[in-house]
Order: sequence, then C-alpha cells, then structure tokens
Amino acid sequence: MKRIGILTSGGDAPGMNAAVRAVARKAMAEGLEAYGINYGFAGLVAGDIHKLESADLDGVVGQGGTLLYSARYPEFAHEEGQLKGIEQLKKFGIDALVVIGGDGSYHGALRLTEHGYNTIGLPGTIDNDIPFTDFTIGFDTAVNTDVEALDRIHDTAHSHDRTFVVEVMGRGAGDVAMWAGISAGADAIVIPEQDWDMETIANTIKHNRANGHRSNIVVLAEGVMGADEFVEKLSEYGDFDTRANTIGHMQRGGRPSAKDRVMASKMGAYAVELLLDGKGGLAVGIQNNQLVTHSMLDLFDSKHESELTLTKLNEDIRFN
Ligand code: ATP
Repeated sequence: MKRIGILTSGGDAPGMNAAVRAVARKAMAEGLEAYGINYGFAGLVAGDIHKLESADLDGVVGQGGTLLYSARYPEFAHEEGQLKGIEQLKKFGIDALVVIGGDGSYHGALRLTEHGYNTIGLPGTIDNDIPFTDFTIGFDTAVNTDVEALDRIHDTAHSHDRTFVVEVMGRGAGDVAMWAGISAGADAIVIPEQDWDMETIANTIKHNRANGHRSNIVVLAEGVMGADEFVEKLSEYGDFDTRANTIGHMQRGGRPSAKDRVMASKMGAYAVELLLDGKGGLAVGIQNNQLVTHSMLDLFDSKHESELTLTKLNEDIRFN
C-alpha cells in the first residue's frame, strides 16, 4: 500500500478536519502518501482528487467544516457510479480509503471495500446516531454550541418570565437534546425515542410558575417536530408567553471542542493502522474510552443506543 485517499461525506461536522489531518499525517509518518478527495463520493467520481502535503494541514485542527468539502451524491448507490469511482482510484494510484461521515457514507465505503479497495469509516456527524460508538465526531462541539445558546436564552426568559421551546438538531436521535438540556438546566427534554405528553409538560410549567420559577425552557429534538408547531400545540393548554427558537445550522459550524479534536485524531490515526493491517469494511468507534471496530454490515443491522436515562435524570434534578 502506497497511497491512502480521504473523503468527507454527508453532513459536515466540527472535528472532521482533525480527522483528515490525523489520517494524512499518520499516513505520512508511515511512509505513505495521502490524497484528499473533494466533495465526498461526487468528487471521487469526478476525479476531484489532490495529493495532500503536510503543510496543507497546518492550522486545520482548529477549524470547523471540512477542508475536503462535503456533498450528497445519491448516484453512488448505483454500481455505475461506483465503477466510475474505482476508475479514478486506479488513475490516481490510491490503494485504500478512509471515509468520514454518517451511516449513508458507510454504505459507499462498504461498496468500495467489496470492489477490492479497503475502506475504513469514521463517524462524522453531530447527531450521535451511529451504532457501536458512544460518541461521534462533532457531537460534543454541537452540544456546547447549544448550551451557549440555551444559556443566553435562559437570561432573556428569566428577565421576562417567559417560556421558550428550543429546537435542536439530531435527526431521529435525542442525544443532542438530552446532553444540551441537562447542561443548560432545561425544564423538559422532548426526544423521539421516548413517549411524552403535552399536558404533563404544560402542568410542569404551571407548577413551576406557581412556585416562583421565572423561566421555563423546553429542549425539543428536531426528530419530534418543529418548535413553532410545538408552541402552537402547547398553547392549547394555557398561555405561557411562549417563544419558539430553532438553533439551526450554527450547530454544525464553529471551532471543534478539544474532546472532538482528540477523539478525531485518535480515530484518524487508528484508521491508518487498520489499513496497514489489511483491514477494510470496518467502522471505527469509541466505547468506554477505547477505540473499537465493528463490521459495517453489523452496523447496518443495529441501532444507536442513546443514554435514555438522561431524561429521567433531568426530571429528578430540574425545578420541582
Ligand atoms: P449524515 O448523518 O450527516 O446525513 P450520511 O453519511 O448518513 O451523513 P447520506 O446523505 O445518507 O449522509 O450519505 C452520504 C453519501 O453516501 C450519499 O450522498 C452517497 O454518495 C453515499 N451513499 C449513501 N447511501 C449509499 C448506498 N446505499 N450505497 C452507496 N453509497 C451511498
């Protein structure tokens, strides 16, 4: 093996650059060459590929987004697209790849492995919705962004005795909502994985107000419904002077946290070791602070296990 290709695919996540840097620099340390593939599988098929030099990676560890850009390219699900990608790998002499993205990207990675190009997947998504890893690259940063926003919202909610429904990202997973909600002292956390009841939430707010709690914050996972719709439904149970707030794409940007940078660096270097061992079709994760690998095939049959006890914890420690 002489050349490793690296691409980022699906939604961008803070810390992807730290992972790209770690893969490329570890490859160089092992006497290999690293090639950056722009725009995910779209760039692979188009041959938007360039050699990475060590200097290209200066300073990127602290930058959000992805220096390799990202794209959604559904055509890669078809063999025709995959074969075009393989042609480019041959043309550039790339022997193996590291794909940083979500589970959709892992499907593309597995197809490349099946075509004889060992590919390792790293979990790059703020949603924390990938099986067999406690954390994904970008999750910690996104949660910290939410906590900063929620702290600010708390200030104004408290000043005006208002209720805020704050919608956070996470797709079908409630991890971002749970972590941000606990960290910011939310009064309710509503996630798609658990049953919830609007009347109970309304009663909580009424109870809180009657007992001198001046602000109420509901953290709502986007997988449940939008903040505006939630506020409308909540208003059927009383007038809580409620405002809807959607934090939105700012959760995807910004300087990655140290935790994301370190985790991405560990995973990136490990991916190169796995490729040097001749492995492919594996997804890297972190479980109990240990790097682990699982077959992508197993991963597709599994579901991420969220730490659902966090909502119960929140109920125990919120204003009661
Ligand atoms: P995120 O969690 O941020 O959405 P993701 O990796 O799951 O990330 P997707 O849009 O599902 O995002 O997938 C990214 C890309 O992976 C697709 O645009 C496509 O190029 C490739 N891909 C997805 N599914 C497949 C598949 N079944 N076979 C081959 N390639 C695929």
